[in-house]
Amino acid sequence: MSRATQAGPSEAGAVSAWIALGANLGDARAALRGALQAMAVLPDTRLLAVSSLYRSAPVDALGPDYLNAVAELQTGLAPLDLLHALQAIEQAAGRERPYRNAPRTLDLDLLLYGEQRLEGAELTVPHPRMWQRAFVLLPLAELRPGWVTPAQLQAVAAQAIERLDAPSAWTR
Ligand code: ADP
Ligand code: MG
Repeated sequence: MSRATQAGPSEAGAVSAWIALGANLGDARAALRGALQAMAVLPDTRLLAVSSLYRSAPVDALGPDYLNAVAELQTGLAPLDLLHALQAIEQAAGRERPYRNAPRTLDLDLLLYGEQRLEGAELTVPHPRMWQRAFVLLPLAELRPGWVTPAQLQAVAAQAIERLDAPSAWTR
C-alpha cells in the first residue's frame, strides 16, 4: 500500500510539488485549464498557485508553438503516486507518444517534490532538464521568486518565449 493511501488527514498536503504543464496540439489553452481542474481534485491534493501562461517555440522538435505554465500543488501523494496521477490526466486528454519529443495534447512533468532528490527508472526529481528550459524557469520563477537565480535565467535568455496572460486572465 502506498504512503498516500495510508496517510491520515493530518499528513495530507505535507509537501509542495511544482508541475510543468505544456501542450501544442488541439486547443492547448483548454487542455492546460482542464489539467489544472484535474490536478485540483486529486486525492490529498490542493492547487496552491498557477503561473502566467506562456507561448514557446518547440525545443529539439518541430511542430506548433507550445503553451506552457507551472502550477504549485500541496499534496499528500507519494512521488510515484503523483507521477501516475499526472500520467492518467495526460491520457484522459488524449496523450499519445508516437516518438520522442512528438507534439502533445498535454504534457505534465513533475519538476520538484519538496526538497526530495529521486533517481528511479520512472521518476527523476528535480526534473533533469528543467534548468535548460525557459518555458519552465520563467513560470517557476514567478511562483518561487528568489529560487531561480539570475544566472539560471540568463542561461535560457536566448530561447523564444512570450508571456501571454496573467494567471487571473487565463485560469478564469
Ligand atoms: P518528456 O520528457 O518530453 O516530458 P514524456 O512525457 O513522454 O516525455 O515522459 C517520458 C518519461 O519520463 C515518462 O515515462 C516518465 O516515467 C519519465 N520521467 C522521469 N522523471 C520524470 C519527471 N520528473 N516528470 C515526468 N516524467 C518523468
Ligand atoms: Mg512529460
